[in-house]
Amino acid sequence: MTIPRVRFAPSPTGQLHLGGARTALSNYLYAKNQGGKFLIRIEDTDLERSKKEYIDQICDSLKWLGLKWDDEIVYQSDNKSLYNHWIEKILETKKAYRCFASKDELDSYRNKKGSLHYPGIWRDRSTSDVNKQLEKGTPFTIRIKTPITGETKFTDLIYGEIIISNTEIDDFILVRSDGTPVYNFTNVIDDYNMKITNVIRGEDHISNTSKQILIYDILGFKKPEFAHLPMILGEDQKRLSKRHGATGVNEYRKMGYQSSALINYLAFLGWSPGSEEEIFDLNQLVDKFDLSKVQKKSAIFDSKKLNWISSRHLLISSNMSILKSLKRLDVSWGEKKKQDCYLKIIELLKPRSNTFIELIEKSDYFFNDPKQLDNSIKIKIWKSDTSKIINTLISALEKIENWESIELETNVKEFIKNNGLGFGSVLKPIRFAICGVLDGPSLFEIMEILNKDSVIRRLNKAILEFK
Ligand code: GLU
Repeated sequence: MTIPRVRFAPSPTGQLHLGGARTALSNYLYAKNQGGKFLIRIEDTDLERSKKEYIDQICDSLKWLGLKWDDEIVYQSDNKSLYNHWIEKILETKKAYRCFASKDELDSYRNKKGSLHYPGIWRDRSTSDVNKQLEKGTPFTIRIKTPITGETKFTDLIYGEIIISNTEIDDFILVRSDGTPVYNFTNVIDDYNMKITNVIRGEDHISNTSKQILIYDILGFKKPEFAHLPMILGEDQKRLSKRHGATGVNEYRKMGYQSSALINYLAFLGWSPGSEEEIFDLNQLVDKFDLSKVQKKSAIFDSKKLNWISSRHLLISSNMSILKSLKRLDVSWGEKKKQDCYLKIIELLKPRSNTFIELIEKSDYFFNDPKQLDNSIKIKIWKSDTSKIINTLISALEKIENWESIELETNVKEFIKNNGLGFGSVLKPIRFAICGVLDGPSLFEIMEILNKDSVIRRLNKAILEFK
């Protein structure tokens, strides 16, 4: 049995986007599920647009996502002699030819015919015609001799049989006049050279695949299997782009999503294991992944679903691992209180947060007094007798020696009952005064973490402010 070998082949002309990450992930899941190899090839032949910093960013994002690749990364820029070898070979087959037509000449043909298809000017020229131009040093491109009749077909693992009439494919360029081979050519040579068994990439490459099939056939290479993944669209059904908000993996990392959550969500774009359960880590996804279950329909990127998945991942993460990640995101986190306190804050806030950043933002009142108490809330909950009640409560709180949530709860509730008050009329103002908001985890747990001094200080501050 051949061991599957797949590759992710990004062009380093930008950071890793969600679409690229989903392609990389599908390749990874397929390879690992089948006991195969997941390889990386950097398609950096476009010297002007390719940048080293993008290569670093892409690799960083892949590492962060946990998509560990096998073997050394292949760089197309290192493969010039390999391409030259196959350029010679393809010319020898006579199924590719040199075209000496100038740009102006081609433009005037195209204008006359009103079609962008190459008109075949140099397709069947005699050897002596060609040699004359070579002697003159006329620049030339190398074009493929696409069969004039018939069809080019392949069976896509997701889209089924794809058939293109050869009349729709012109004699496209394999090598530019500056001697550099084009994407469709280098892609085939490298896939062959790297012994790739399955090409898994975005649906936008289907038309390239038809052209590549012609090259495989001319060179007599065994073709890999092809699987094209459905596009990712924004909620407006348009192709996912910056207009829809963040699209870079690194942006999601900065927004405080865990890689496990992003991976989980991306895996579900156009695929599902067919079970009710939707929360999986990378290893579980490897076990479940099945390319044949990928749907053809474009997938819609739904940030609400991502947030839901992210919140579930947060819930199952250990407090210690969350603490480590939070410290990496915010250097001041972990410095102001004892570690135990931080772990308790995490325990309280993780069921209420979608991301690390949200958790950090929600934790603000554990470290800082609320800045300005919102007057619209105050009007609703701070009645004419509230300051007096809170004042008496402060005296009761001052007497508590064992400042723990259970003790606090017993005392505050007794205070409410003994004074014949309603729970809401006391608990809401306390929460508002110490947190600045009306929602959140257990008030008594918050009070315990905040400690006696801060709670009393904040209650007094509110009384003063609302006098
Ligand atoms: N460099 C191409 C891209 O980034 C690779 C396509 C492929 O996987 O063959 O779209």
